[in-house]
Amino acid sequence: MNQTIKQLEYGESFIDRHIGPSIEERQKMLEVVGAKSLDELTRLIVPADIQLPHPPATGDAQTEHQALAELKAIAGQNQRYKSYIGMGYSAVLMPPVIQRNLLENPGWYTAYTPYQPEVSQGRLEALLNFQQMTQDLTGLDLASASLLDEATAAAEAMAMAKRASKLKQANSFFVADDVHPQTIDVVKTRAETFGFNVIIGRTDQAANHADLFGILVQLTGTTGQLHDHSQLLNQLKQRGVITCMAADIMSLVLLESPASMGADVVFGSSQRFGVPMGYGGPHAAFFACKDEFKRSMPGRIIGVSKDAAGNTALRMAMQTREQHIRREKANSNICTSQVLLANIAGFYAVYHGPVGLKRIAQRIHRLTDILAVGLQKAGLKLRHDSWFDTLCIEVADKALVLTRALSFGVNLRSDLEGAVGISLDETTTVEDIQTLFDILIGDSKAIDIDKLDSQCIAHSNSIPPSLLRKTPILTHPVFNRYHSETEMMRYMHRLERKDLALNQAMIPLGSCTMKLNAAAEMIPITWPEFAELHPFCPPEQAAGYQILIAQLSQWLAQITGYDAVCMQPNSGAQGEYAGLLTIRRYHESRGQGSRHICLIPSSAHGTNPASAQMAGMTVVVVACDKQGNIDLSDLRTKAEQHSDELSCIMVTYPSTHGVYEETIREVCKIVHQFGGQVYLDGANMNAQVGITTPGYIGADVSHLNLHKTFSIPHGGGGPGMGPIGVKKHLAPFVPGHSVVHLEGVTTSLGAVSAAPFGSASILPISWMYIHMMGAEGLKMASQVAILNANYIARRLKDAYPILYSGQDGLVAHECILDIRPLKEECGITEMDIAKRLIDYGFHAPTMSFPVAGTLMVEPTESESKAELDRFIEAMLAIRHEIRRVQAGEWPLDDNPLVNAPHIQGELVHQWEHPYSRDLAVFPSQAVFQNKYWPTVKRLDDVYGDRNLFCSCVPMAEYE
Ligand SMILES: *Cc1c(COP(=O)(O)O)cnc(C)c1O
Repeated sequence: MNQTIKQLEYGESFIDRHIGPSIEERQKMLEVVGAKSLDELTRLIVPADIQLPHPPATGDAQTEHQALAELKAIAGQNQRYKSYIGMGYSAVLMPPVIQRNLLENPGWYTAYTPYQPEVSQGRLEALLNFQQMTQDLTGLDLASASLLDEATAAAEAMAMAKRASKLKQANSFFVADDVHPQTIDVVKTRAETFGFNVIIGRTDQAANHADLFGILVQLTGTTGQLHDHSQLLNQLKQRGVITCMAADIMSLVLLESPASMGADVVFGSSQRFGVPMGYGGPHAAFFACKDEFKRSMPGRIIGVSKDAAGNTALRMAMQTREQHIRREKANSNICTSQVLLANIAGFYAVYHGPVGLKRIAQRIHRLTDILAVGLQKAGLKLRHDSWFDTLCIEVADKALVLTRALSFGVNLRSDLEGAVGISLDETTTVEDIQTLFDILIGDSKAIDIDKLDSQCIAHSNSIPPSLLRKTPILTHPVFNRYHSETEMMRYMHRLERKDLALNQAMIPLGSCTMKLNAAAEMIPITWPEFAELHPFCPPEQAAGYQILIAQLSQWLAQITGYDAVCMQPNSGAQGEYAGLLTIRRYHESRGQGSRHICLIPSSAHGTNPASAQMAGMTVVVVACDKQGNIDLSDLRTKAEQHSDELSCIMVTYPSTHGVYEETIREVCKIVHQFGGQVYLDGANMNAQVGITTPGYIGADVSHLNLHKTFSIPHGGGGPGMGPIGVKKHLAPFVPGHSVVHLEGVTTSLGAVSAAPFGSASILPISWMYIHMMGAEGLKMASQVAILNANYIARRLKDAYPILYSGQDGLVAHECILDIRPLKEECGITEMDIAKRLIDYGFHAPTMSFPVAGTLMVEPTESESKAELDRFIEAMLAIRHEIRRVQAGEWPLDDNPLVNAPHIQGELVHQWEHPYSRDLAVFPSQAVFQNKYWPTVKRLDDVYGDRNLFCSCVPMAEYE
């Protein structure tokens, strides 16, 4: 690498830190693959007509310290005002023990979604805690393990209400007019494509509407009023209307559970349980419902089951509910959600416990009481006579009050007619209350806060007695044991040790791109300049974010060959939904609103058809040929057959089969010819960056998974970011936002996320990645990702057939190992191999996607040759073990494969297997040096689904 003298001063090139194999190793691997150089390998694999003449202009590579210094200066342009804006976002005190040991700990943030439960028991337990906390606070029987944000949870609740309601003719959903505005916005967007009628009005009018299948109310209104909705909800329930309630999580500590008021579905944001606002996200939404709705619930549920030895073990329940299996019949398109953030919120509850949480909530409420009484004494009028933490204060001269607030470094809620809003939080101090008096009254000298306080204690009825919580919360031992930092640190570490994350071994998951999440990329996300901003703060206070978002958008536009980028979607699947909505609106703008057919190849990821269905489209499947490529003649036939109604095609490139289809330009041409748009699923961008672009290929819109290609960690199943890139003609139609004006967007068009820029606070990760790699490094990353995949394919192909490949048997950045012939011959399955890999210290590759009975391996560019070799040797050793089964040396039902994984207990228990303990747990020298111990044996899926149990396990079960 040629470095300028300046770079040498600062330190080493980051490119060499990100890319696993050294130059010498790459040369050796190229020899195995049969190419002289990375460029030659690229030429052999990537169709000539899509190779870019020049790599995208994303600038020169920066060292870690250079990029950090530059980003720090950008962050410094954000202004840290104290925000009392509320609207579902609160300032927090993240417990440092959680920040250091979880948020900043790769053992937690680099883990993958817990599809392989045997290597995920730690985060499954943490998620079960989150579910238990949700159940306790909402009073409902069943909770999921997080959704993307409060507003999308509301849209999911509406869709679920429609599925669950027995009023099949009813088509209207009533939304109370004091639900948060961004929630209403997202609900309206979703309702439009489903063809639901949304009625927004006062709750006392709700029962007058005859056509309702569901209703949404908010427990504490957006301007702070507390509602006892019992009467209304029970009245509507008798009619069969499904009742949904949004609730503030902190208020639930003091308020009676929504279930006791008659809510069937309860959801909200868990942000204020320890997760910084981060200019809008990421935060986990909680979601709970009655047990009878369990089959129609969106998102993932963690359940308790048993392992092969009959011991208690956790897993994702009802995995077949997942969109990748149910496709357009899925309950929701949600895939990546917010696991890391749900875990933070769950641990916040564990750390504080019921007593600590009550103290926090009561303190917030007491300060609100003091503020309310003081303001009333000074002659100001409050709009409501009940509140938890939010006041709506009528002011004669709003502009004056807001200006005075700014002069004190304070943001108040400003979008209310003739009033300002103030929401307090756990960071609010007595001095802050004094400042608020100064702002609202003009002078606080006459106010004696202690006196106000004693008056409030004596007779506060700002929470009506009927609403006060009487039922206990968080009685499970887990919420009552770990309140000292030592205990808490050890509890989190104990869970972390049960799991396998990137800090232990490579995670070769096809389609998931588990690459390095570098420390320098992660450091900025906890800088207060990024973490503390409220998403609806005045835009001039977020100048740093604007620079960050503009630069990142520009780079991503270059990298994708598109003209504009929309940062709102907060997962890949949300990006698909946003992109399809954009296409829909584009057609409508041209008077072609009847175009509703979405062509999807049979090999597509399940989110594609699930999103198409959500966007109100009809899925028509296009066949693939024997090589796994799109069948062009079938495509042409279907595009022509539906030409008047053709909306778009959704294709993944390189295909989900791990091949650069030669005909991709032709695919785009055919669809365009019949008036359709091309949606290119960008999950596989790690095989395109710097080499080609979706725009260059001829697509119109794509989402990017920043949590795959652009180094945001998976967090054990989220967060993610799924921005969409679009060509110029689509740019005016991307999602807008009802609270924050977005430049260049037709604002009447609805939002897809609660926050205007989705999960803005993790964008620094991708900014750092792109900036440190530079144009040259990004291209090399793609090339080495391809080299690594081909190296593995070459070395494994005699042991396991490679299912699809292009010319010369070469693959793209991932390869599919076909296990079906082995299964046919001796009964060993892809599952057995996946579980046996755990004994060898590896996370399994992607199982049975996109083809049942296969394993899809994606090593990424970050894995060194040594690690690839360790994986290859494990796979070859396993193949040798299979041979011994084939030879009859071990019975089919008692061999190291079907019994895998093996746990520590087996070292001391009776041993009655025809193979040795040694082979079971230390199958290779590498394992001997760095053993990963799973804590449970193989999960019993059938038992778990038959006996669905999704709450914390009674402690007796552990002991
Ligand atoms: C990961 C993936 C998605 C979905 O992305 P999420 O961020 O998990 O919602 C869509 N398509 C493909 C091909 C993927 O691999």
